[in-house]
This record gives sequence, C-alpha cells and structure tokens, in this order.
Amino acid sequence: DTALVWFRRDLRLGDLPTLHTVAESGARALGLFVLDDRLLKTSGGARRDFLFRSLAALDDQLDGRLLVVKGDPVDVVPTVAKKVSAEEVHVSADYGPYGRERDAAVAEHVDLVATGSPYAVAPGRVTKTGGEPYRVFTPYFRQWLEHGWRAPIDTGRATVEWLDPDDVKARRVQIPEPESDGCPAGEAAALQRWAEFCEDDLAGYEDARDRPGLDATSRMSVYLKYGNIHPRTMLRDLARRRSKSAEQYRRQLAWRDFYADILFQRPDSARENYDRRFDRIRYDSGPDAEEAYSAWCEGRTGFPIVDAGMRQLKAEAWMHNRVRMIVASFFVKDLHLPWWWGARYFMNRLVDGDLANNQHGWQWTAGSGTDASPYFRVFNPTTQGEKFDPDGEYVRRWVPELRGISGKAVHALKDGRPEDYPPPIVDHAHERQEALARYGEIKAP
Ligand code: FAD
Repeated sequence: DTALVWFRRDLRLGDLPTLHTVAESGARALGLFVLDDRLLKTSGGARRDFLFRSLAALDDQLDGRLLVVKGDPVDVVPTVAKKVSAEEVHVSADYGPYGRERDAAVAEHVDLVATGSPYAVAPGRVTKTGGEPYRVFTPYFRQWLEHGWRAPIDTGRATVEWLDPDDVKARRVQIPEPESDGCPAGEAAALQRWAEFCEDDLAGYEDARDRPGLDATSRMSVYLKYGNIHPRTMLRDLARRRSKSAEQYRRQLAWRDFYADILFQRPDSARENYDRRFDRIRYDSGPDAEEAYSAWCEGRTGFPIVDAGMRQLKAEAWMHNRVRMIVASFFVKDLHLPWWWGARYFMNRLVDGDLANNQHGWQWTAGSGTDASPYFRVFNPTTQGEKFDPDGEYVRRWVPELRGISGKAVHALKDGRPEDYPPPIVDHAHERQEALARYGEIKAP
C-alpha cells in the first residue's frame, strides 16, 4: 500500500499525527509539497524565503525524498495520488478560509484523511456548554485548559518508509532558492531555538516579555506558523516547569488557538469587522491619509517608539508584541486609517505573518474585534515608550538619529530633537479626542 503525505503548514517529521496514522496503516509513503501560486503571491518575501528554507530542511530530513510540484493543489494532488496508486491522501487539518475551500475541492477527487492540526486544541473543540463558540478570551482560556491536549507522539524519520519521488513520473521541481538570509528554518532549528529559550529566557519571561529592548520573548512564532514544531511539544516542556513564566507562556499559546478558533467560526473576520458596529466608523482617506500611511510604513512619524517598531519590522521581518500593539493603535487612533491597510502591510512584511493572529491582533487594537480593548483606551505612544522601553535602549537600537540622546529622554524629546529626525506628524492629544469623537458616533448599538 502507498499513502500520499501532503505537507502544508506542518513542515517537520517529529510529533506529526499524520505520520502516526500512516505508520499504523503500514503503508509506504510519498511526501508531497505543492507550490501553490495563490499562496505564494500573497506571502511577502520573508515568508516565502522561510518557507523555502523549511522545505529544504524537510527534504534533507527525508534524504532528498520530498516531491515538490508547482501548480494548483486541486489538480496536482489527485494526479500524484493516481500516479502512485495511493488510496489515501494524509494531511494535517487546515482551518483557514482558503485552506478549507481548497481541501474541500481536493476531497472531491481523493480520499483526504486529516489527522491532527497545527493547534494544541483544534478550532471548534472549545465551546460553551450549549456548543456555542466563545467570543471572549478569558472564558475560552479556562475551558481550553479544562479540555486539554494530547501528549506529543514520537514520529520521526524512521516511522514510515519513504518512496523516492524520482521513481514517480511527476513534474518535480527544485525547491526555490531564498532571496535573502533570515533565521534558520526547519525542525532542528525550531527545537534548538525552543531549547535555548527554555534554558536562557523562560524563567524571566513573565517580567521581561513586555520590554522590547530586552529581546526576552521566544521568537517561536515563525516556527509555529510553518509547523516546524507542534505547540503540544512546547506545552509538554512548559508543564515540566511549573512557574508563573511557564503559565504565562502557555497563555500566549492559547491566544494562538483562540484566534484560529475565531477565524474558523467567522471566516469573514479576516477582512471585515468582527463587531459590525465598526462598519460605520469614519476613516481618513485622500492624499494626506496616504502620506501618513507612508510615513508610518517607513518609520518617520516622529514618534520614536513607533518609528523604532516600523524600522525593526523592515529590517528583521518581525516586531515585538508590545510594539505591534503600539504601532497598530497609532495607525488606527492617531492616524485614523483603516486597520486592514495596516494589517495588509504587516502580512507583507512579517516572517510570522498569520491571518488569524494578525487580523485579530489588529482588530483587537482597533476595538472592532473580540475582547475589544474598550474604545476609549487610546495608547499614548510617548508614555508607552517610557513605560516599556524605560532606558530607551530599543529606540536607540532602531532609530540611529536618536542615539545621541540618553536614557528615557529619547521618548518625549523634551530638550529638542536632532535635525535629521522628523517632527511628529500629528498632535497626539488632539488625535485622541478625534478618535474618541469618532468612536462616540458609532457607540450606540
Ligand atoms: P512570545 O511572547 O515568545 O509568544 C509565544 C507564542 O505565543 C508566539 O510565538 C505566538 O505563537 C503566541 N502568541 C503570543 N502572543 C500572541 C497573540 N497576541 N496572539 C496570538 N498568538 C500569540 N502573531 C503571529 O504569529 N503572526 C502575526 O501575523 C501576528 N500579527 C500581530 C499583529 C498585531 C497588531 C498584534 C498586536 C499581534 C500580532 N501577533 C502575531 C501576536 C504576537 O505579537 C506575536 O505572536 C509575537 O510577537 C511573536 O513573537 P514571539 O514568538 O517572540 O512571542
């Protein structure tokens, strides 16, 4: 018997439920990845490069036996399955809007067997007593803990016998070369990064996670995004530690499951306001709005913490979570621009760009999402900077114009600003009032 293992967002061999299913069936397996133009076109360069590096790592793990084919999965998968006479095509379930549609179309032609998902607890599993989905994180989280997850399973290279794709008459292509350098990809890199984080930084995570200058978070988001590691492997390691920091980290992984659940329940929330009252809010448009948008993208708003974040994004294809919140709040509430413009820019730039986490992170900040931060909560970029980058280290790292200013003064710039650093593009106190007025107009149900 032959089974086709179709890899998507699960680019690893360890703790891969799909492989467990194939191994139990005793079938030999062909590993397939489809380079799908529809997905590649909407991924930014950093994500594409990380994907290509992940594929190269997976191919190495399989001794060069990963079959990579370009095309539309709806054509490619049934064709390859037929060529190797595979009765079943094994996948890890995809819960995103595009993935669900694609899988339904593929399943019209082949027997698609989904085992496991990229989440600790798959979307749709954590519900209220009546089966209704949660709309607020904290009660979801309580129920998520109650529900629990499986222990990792030991699947690895040796679990199944892999077919050589050169024996299959399929249109095999080379894995594309990445266009630029970036963080190492693949299962070994993910496990190494995770082990280092647990060893060096997990103990201090609770206190340091909100401080962008300390680089104290795990940077596991990209490995989770491409399934170079399964979250339950991480949850097992966290459970062994029993500390406030381990608990806090576990809570962050629950946010990831929560947002995947929300997107599953409401696929429209990838593009539209989760809270429909926000359809009526007024946004700015026209040349001034476009100019403000460019200043924000390029990190020249004249607000040091905002500019530092946007420049980190450009340089590293990643941004610290606290700063993501600050720049997003600035975008929506100081510049009065529609959240989906900012979300689109993030998706283009971020190496960890993930539809569920990104769109809902934006909507949370904009007030239109779940658990919405109350509409009257408007981040003050200067005091946020002073609070979370108290010695100004983060700003000086990313905004070289401000390196001559020491300590916290780098945020308020009370003693003047260097000539080569732009003046603030807006008056925060004024824009705050404006944001409140606009929210006031839609507040009533
Ligand atoms: P850690 O602090 O080490 O967290 C561990 C893991 O928990 C992360 O890797 C991530 O998988 C998960 N996690 C942490 N915070 C969140 C959160 N708020 N929501 C969902 N999962 C979380 N995360 C993405 O993975 N992709 C995105 O495209 C993305 N866009 C965002 C946009 C905005 C406006 C905001 C406010 C947040 C966004 N996040 C996104 C969530 C968060 O900022 C990143 O997951 C985090 O910064 C990644 O760095 P880390 O792995 O070092 O985080």
